[in-house]
Amino acid sequence: MINSVIPVPKECRNCGEEILYGRTDKKFCNDACRIDYNNKVKMERRGEHPEFVKKIAKILSHNYQILRKLNTKSKTIVSEQQLNGLGFNFNYLTSYHITQKGDVYHFCFDQGYLKIKDNQVLLVVQPNQTEM
Ligand SMILES: [Zn+2]
Repeated sequence: MINSVIPVPKECRNCGEEILYGRTDKKFCNDACRIDYNNKVKMERRGEHPEFVKKIAKILSHNYQILRKLNTKSKTIVSEQQLNGLGFNFNYLTSYHITQKGDVYHFCFDQGYLKIKDNQVLLVVQPNQTEM
């Protein structure tokens, strides 16, 4: 009788792809995956965030500073062009709030905005964001 043992396919620890060749104790599909995985582990140990997280945090911080600088009266109307001109990125926000009327306020921390007519933007401040 033939005792056939079918090896359980192993998955790369980094990308999850099946490891098709190499030693049986191989943990990664290639060197790039091994290096990438080890870098992630090192980064986590140091309490660092990956590059893309740092990039988004920078965009949010920039957006926040723009809104704070422009919103001097806590209810200021500016134009979309003005925000764009300062490098405001409408794709990034920290939360949103939909009113009963259906208006959607977008927030970057406590600084929010509502797009109103004619490319105008109403800037608002909403304290206690963490309690929402
Ligand atoms: Zn891999």
